Amino acid sequence: MPSVFIKTYGCQMNERDSEAVAAQLVAKGYTLAPSEAVADVILLNTCSVRDFAEQKAIGKMQNIAADVRKHHPEVVLGFMGCMAQSRGQELIDRLPDVDLVLGTQKFHHAANYLDEILAGRRDKIVDVAAEQGSEATIREHLLNGNAQKSVTAFVSIMQGCNQYCTFCIVPYTRGEERSRSIPDIVAECRQLVSQGVKEITLLGQIVTSYGKRGFGRAELPLGQDAQQRVPTTKKTSFVQLLDAVHEIDGLERIRFTAPHPKGYGDDLIQAYARLPQLVGSAHLPVQSGSDRVLKLMHRGYTRERFLGIVRKLRRAKPDIGITTDIIVGFPGETEDDFEQTLSLAREVQFDNAYIFKYSQRRDTPAAEMPGQVPLKIREERNHRLLETINEIGKRKYDAFVGQRTQILVEGPSKKNPARLAGRTRCNKIVVFDGSERHRGQLLDVKITRAGSFTLYGDPAIVNL
Ligand code: SF4
Repeated sequence: MPSVFIKTYGCQMNERDSEAVAAQLVAKGYTLAPSEAVADVILLNTCSVRDFAEQKAIGKMQNIAADVRKHHPEVVLGFMGCMAQSRGQELIDRLPDVDLVLGTQKFHHAANYLDEILAGRRDKIVDVAAEQGSEATIREHLLNGNAQKSVTAFVSIMQGCNQYCTFCIVPYTRGEERSRSIPDIVAECRQLVSQGVKEITLLGQIVTSYGKRGFGRAELPLGQDAQQRVPTTKKTSFVQLLDAVHEIDGLERIRFTAPHPKGYGDDLIQAYARLPQLVGSAHLPVQSGSDRVLKLMHRGYTRERFLGIVRKLRRAKPDIGITTDIIVGFPGETEDDFEQTLSLAREVQFDNAYIFKYSQRRDTPAAEMPGQVPLKIREERNHRLLETINEIGKRKYDAFVGQRTQILVEGPSKKNPARLAGRTRCNKIVVFDGSERHRGQLLDVKITRAGSFTLYGDPAIVNL
């Protein structure tokens, strides 16, 4: 059977989609190639959030076409994911070596399409049409190819986004919000836990909008126990989903990404206090500290509303870790607007922040807005904000030194595979000396040192 190599660009949703496609192909008899040089099929799962990511994927495909094809003329080349969706046929017109272009609602057709191309029944295939029910087709897992015990897993709960932030291309590449049903998601989570998974991250473009469109509340059967836990609060579908997943025996931790600050209603905030398995970590993408810019971005909240959510979360869970995404240099952003973002970062004291220089995306409203900020200013603001975030992060991480904290041991550290790495409940990575048998365990470690957004644990207190 042919071998496949998948290279993934972009977010965790893309990672998850690639895993599901790989698992579907493995189930059909494909093997996973260790590198593109020896693969019979090479797929690039692409990202459109920034222009740079698109150019990287196009450049990569050009290199593959020039290099790999020379030695292996039969190799099948394909684009899938967000750029495939937004550019479609244009990709084959520009790169005639490409055989397959697969949109974001078509991942589950990868095996059949590849079979047809490999058998010579079809030459080129472009499929970027919308498909009803496709949100429920990302369900297969590789679990490290079953070679090692996988401790964590991602479960796709919904696709698409209806928020239409003016800078974002996602609603155009991922389509309207479409949610899987709770029983379907819970069944997948249960199966993962039975295979040894301890932590599940619920995934979607805007998970806090889960279930708002696409299925009714009547479709959400829950245990009476879960229903009764917040008798005075009407729960959103997302919180009902958290309740249902929380019921699964053997599941130690629940995370979710990506949420929207608008979705942090009182029921979700209370969930942090009442659901022990929901980790003490919240990602709140604020994007800007200026109300004027937030309005231009169409974010749907004000600075004050955002700060109110942070206050409530810290009241509900005092040791919660809070991270964010921030865009600098959005069209029309003045120095004063940027200063408000800096002051918000200081006020909230984020544990970490992912900072992005605004990138013009074609077909998005912001690309046409007046007051596009020159690159030099975007870079300078990026640098200043980064300094502030690093300074705050250092203080936050230093405060862990000397403390005991619980980690879930995930496996070898990425930077130093001789050591192990785990994650605290507030989503901080801890590196320590341990042994393979610690993988998958919940361990108390003493923090001895803090590095740049990494903690180091004392091996002396680990039961070796
Ligand atoms: S909520 Fe997130 S995914 Fe949706 S449009 Fe805004 S930034 Fe994009």
